[in-house]
Amino acid sequence: MVTNSQAFDRAQHILPGGVNSPVRAYRSVGGSPRFIQSAKGAFVTDVAGREYVDLVGSWGPALLGHAHPAVIAAVQEAASRGLSFGAPTLGEVDLAEAIQRRIAPAERVRLVSTGTEATMTAVRLARGVTGRNLIIKFAGCYHGHVDSLLAEAGSGVATQALPGSAGVTPATAAETLVLPYNDLAAVEEAFATHSGEIAAVITEAAPANMGIVPPSRGFNEGLRRITRAHGALLIFDEVLTGFRTGPSGWWGFEKEVLGADFTPDLFTFGKVIGGGMPVAALAGPAQIMDQLAPLGPVYQAGTLSGNPVAVAAGLATLEAADQGVYDSVMAASIAVGEAVTEALTAAGIPHRVQRAATLFSVMFGEHAAEHGSHNYADTLANDTFRYGPFFHAMLEQGISLPPSVFEAWFVSAAHDDAVINRIIEALPAAARAAAA
Ligand code: PLP
Repeated sequence: MVTNSQAFDRAQHILPGGVNSPVRAYRSVGGSPRFIQSAKGAFVTDVAGREYVDLVGSWGPALLGHAHPAVIAAVQEAASRGLSFGAPTLGEVDLAEAIQRRIAPAERVRLVSTGTEATMTAVRLARGVTGRNLIIKFAGCYHGHVDSLLAEAGSGVATQALPGSAGVTPATAAETLVLPYNDLAAVEEAFATHSGEIAAVITEAAPANMGIVPPSRGFNEGLRRITRAHGALLIFDEVLTGFRTGPSGWWGFEKEVLGADFTPDLFTFGKVIGGGMPVAALAGPAQIMDQLAPLGPVYQAGTLSGNPVAVAAGLATLEAADQGVYDSVMAASIAVGEAVTEALTAAGIPHRVQRAATLFSVMFGEHAAEHGSHNYADTLANDTFRYGPFFHAMLEQGISLPPSVFEAWFVSAAHDDAVINRIIEALPAAARAAAA
């Protein structure tokens, strides 16, 4: 048996920062990350043998909970037939069709391995189709580590307090216009200033990487109206929200629950569609998607794209994600969110729990309590320093929260009443720690 700090020491000698993805390193909350050896349902177990209630959920994929029996069986069955062929398989078609059944505008689907590849390809496709160079993104939205999309990105870029990333050339950065989220006037103005030059607006369907910052009523529809008027594409990044905020993602939620009526040009998906394995996708109308190679001039490829074992996990996950799963995830999300408010209120900490369907996160401070967070500037005005003590008090009590205040808390269908009660019991001590 090793301790987590022994594991981390060893890792730091071979992996930069001891991790393969920055937020895992606990830099913004301090301490040694937990090295996980196994996970089941709502729990993860670290290398020292300690079990935690998990609210990281692999950063989104674990909608059903970890190691769901149907997903594990599908992976084992697929693996028994070989790991990778470099040739098409019917499993890829099955997964793409399953996506299309849930998101009707996804007439064509290209499977890739990461959300980053999906957004990178969507941007290239938008440029290829429009013959224009500029891209609009919103401050605080994270679309993966694509060079052109790292400017003022949320998620790990936010925890490192970076304006972007070193290594992105000024020429690349200059082709991205970064605008404040939820501000249609800024979008109109950018299109007026750069008439005929903007290829696409890329937006998180409902931002979840600067804390949860839901789009104002009409914002996404407004983006659709403006992009269409100017001949630019609207790329709707549902890597995180897709098949998590509901069976047809945030797009479906906005349409069915909030009464919105719009269709983006391109969707990007990831996380849930891989069920814990590396699968992501971009999707949209045939007219646009068929511009991808081999039919069209926009090149994209991948040795492991549509990997047979990975797509088996994704398909099994989507098939298991019935309405009952979404109802459970929503109920768990509301119960935990309300309990957080109760505990923080009892400890006298001004805060706000912000929500987008099943997703929620906690914002600390007077600014959040009074105004809420509508964009990245609001999020950065929060009392982010309160999260570290809160996080560690939860961890000590066996509850593993995302190690960053900017991330959503991921509940799953496996977070049943007993699990939720464990979270609720831990909250008062964490709220007191955050108050200190
Ligand atoms: N887009 C969004 C909205 C995301 O949240 C993420 C990852 O968190 C990505 C894209 C990038 O996905 P990946 O980490 O699989 O490259």
